[in-house]
Amino acid sequence: MNLDLIEIRKYLHRNPELSGQEKNTSTYIVKMLKQFSPKVIITEIGGFGIAAIFDSRRPGMTIMFRAELDALPITESNIFSYKSKVEGISHKCGHDGHITILLGLAERIKRENFKGRIILLFQPAEETSKGAKRVVEDTKFKLLKPDYIFALHNLPGFTKGTIIQRKGIYTSTSIGIIIKLKGETSHAGHPENGNNPASAMTKIINEFNNLPQNIQDFAMITIIYAKLGEIAFGTSAGKAVIMATFRSHTKNTLEIMQKKAISLVKEKAEKQNLDYEIEWVEYFPEIVNDDECVDIIKKSAENIDNKIKFIKQPFSWTDDFSYFTQKIKGAFFGLGSGKDHRQLHNSDYDFPDEIISDGINIFIEIIKEIYRRQ
Ligand SMILES: [Zn+2]
Ligand SMILES: [Zn+2]
Repeated sequence: MNLDLIEIRKYLHRNPELSGQEKNTSTYIVKMLKQFSPKVIITEIGGFGIAAIFDSRRPGMTIMFRAELDALPITESNIFSYKSKVEGISHKCGHDGHITILLGLAERIKRENFKGRIILLFQPAEETSKGAKRVVEDTKFKLLKPDYIFALHNLPGFTKGTIIQRKGIYTSTSIGIIIKLKGETSHAGHPENGNNPASAMTKIINEFNNLPQNIQDFAMITIIYAKLGEIAFGTSAGKAVIMATFRSHTKNTLEIMQKKAISLVKEKAEKQNLDYEIEWVEYFPEIVNDDECVDIIKKSAENIDNKIKFIKQPFSWTDDFSYFTQKIKGAFFGLGSGKDHRQLHNSDYDFPDEIISDGINIFIEIIKEIYRRQ
């Protein structure tokens, strides 16, 4: 049978689920996969993750491909017929497209004459960095033992269908910081009777903006949230929260930033007699691409006359695919979604269906290229 991939993509787009809650998405994928009779479908890997194992019963490598299941807590501003049915949640990273590509790949695998085993992995909770780690640590995953793992991400800003690649570090590492400052509320007419953390809060935010300038490597701090006191005009604020994301290309630089941040918060809080707490959350390691896998992708792209672009610097965004490449030979690559396409996580972003076939074709060619090398 021929899958109507665009209908599948639109169905997924209409029915988004947040990280860790991808129950219906998972059920839908299992139903679709059954049409292609994989040898085994393993469910509930690291949450709602799924692995479909296609076994040729002929000797050969085990090649794994990964897509992500989750959508984002963003209200969709598009008004097209297949817009998100769920208020406040939508597929703004194109994971609906990535799932569709893997389902299209399942159909092709069924038709192609292949060796070894091919495993399609549908991973939950990418956006919160929890999913890949949980999958890798799940005993059901440990039994799969792939020789290679590959994944792609659609990338606005690049010509449709272009393969975007880099040897070594591909994406940044990042971590979130939560800072809580605690002073004392007082009457707004007598702020001197309390301890308002406003001044320490603004100093920390300002100095976070300067902190990366004193670091030689790539370093970035983005303030993502801040809150001071409560809405009560009669009360001087007694507490504050600041949240920010730290990014760099290596764990070493990230740790330098963290140390500087800790001493900065300590200094500002102590100077003002405030209690403080620091919590680190949502750590994403950097993705390190394996040289051989990058060569396989490059050769595969050339074989099918796909444009390929090598980037000089790693991307500043992150992806938890890094938990796989820490353990398995693999590579992550970009698939251009159009030079002027709306950016990922924008409220009017929508995955471009025209690149579904590009994604399937490059994955199929990667399989063939690996077999040629055996
Ligand atoms: Zn995303
Ligand atoms: Zn994504």
